Amino acid sequence: MLSTAEIGIDLGTANILIYSKTKGIVLNEPSVVAIDVNTKQVVAVGTEAKQMVGKTPQNIIPIRPLKDGVIADYDVTAQMLKEFLKKVSKKIGMSMRKPIVVVCTPSGSTTVERRAIHNAVTSYGAKQVHLIEEPVAAAIGSDLPVDEPVANVVVDIGGGTSEVGIISFGGVVSCNSVRTGGDKMDEEIIHHIRKKYNILIGERTAENVKMEIGYAHPNHDEETMEIRGRDMVSGLPKTVIITSTEIHYALKESLDSILETIRATLENCPPELSGDIVDHGIVLTGGGALLRGMQEWLSNELIVPVHLAPNPLESVAIGTGRALKMINKLQKAAK
Ligand code: ADP
Ligand code: MG
Repeated sequence: MLSTAEIGIDLGTANILIYSKTKGIVLNEPSVVAIDVNTKQVVAVGTEAKQMVGKTPQNIIPIRPLKDGVIADYDVTAQMLKEFLKKVSKKIGMSMRKPIVVVCTPSGSTTVERRAIHNAVTSYGAKQVHLIEEPVAAAIGSDLPVDEPVANVVVDIGGGTSEVGIISFGGVVSCNSVRTGGDKMDEEIIHHIRKKYNILIGERTAENVKMEIGYAHPNHDEETMEIRGRDMVSGLPKTVIITSTEIHYALKESLDSILETIRATLENCPPELSGDIVDHGIVLTGGGALLRGMQEWLSNELIVPVHLAPNPLESVAIGTGRALKMINKLQKAAK
């Protein structure tokens, strides 16, 4: 007899990951869909669609349906999800037919949005669908002892949003979300290059700059990078050399907004749990946690220990998959 497949889905604003209990991460692709505006058909999803960003003919537009942490277009989201499930079902084989699915949704999502996700997964043939909150999944996937009565603080810096959650005894004690994450940082880099050099660069160039020479901490050994864009005066391609120091200052506003969100959450923490935070500190996860110097900078600012999760880009997916056996308990705690 075939056993039922159990899978976890991290429906992130930048990346979608699917985790299978038996095979681990089976899909990790950007949450992007390319749509033909004339026929409304999905032309490409994931990696293939992301490669089209900024390069498509007019009738084909790449969409990030979850961009700001809210589901801008749930038809598109549902179509995208189905395409990914189709890809994965081949990998996992027949047992995928009636899987039990746990989906992690952005914590700001509304009831209507959650129902849309639920329906999309159910219509794909899932036997059961459970939705869990992002901070809980992030904490489980970061190996934190979420079901113990201690404060587990997790900060998940994603593409569209950053979420801060305090979890104790299997439930969320307090949490906050801010619409600032990696995307805002990319936008700030684009804005800075336009203002200082009169050069237009694309989102992908900006993301590369952030990953290569972005620093959270102002005190670092300065690095430089050559970038190319379009000169706004001549309209022609132009190359300039930029420094990590100027990029740090370009990112400052996003960084400060994430810091303030963490601070506000810690200040709301029940006093009995505050002591735990001083001892155990907080765990950083999400792609934005990989910005250089993030750990040291936050630790200096907050005066608590800050740790990096073992696999920041995968913690939520792993936690979602692992959450299955805790689901009943978590649901009870939430009541
Ligand atoms: P989401 O959960 O919202 O889908 P992720 O956790 O997958 O987001 O993180 C995606 C974000 O992390 C993107 O903005 C990406 O640019 C950023 N990111 C990934 N790697 C790095 C890195 N090495 N340095 C800085 N930012 C990074
Ligand atoms: Mg995420």
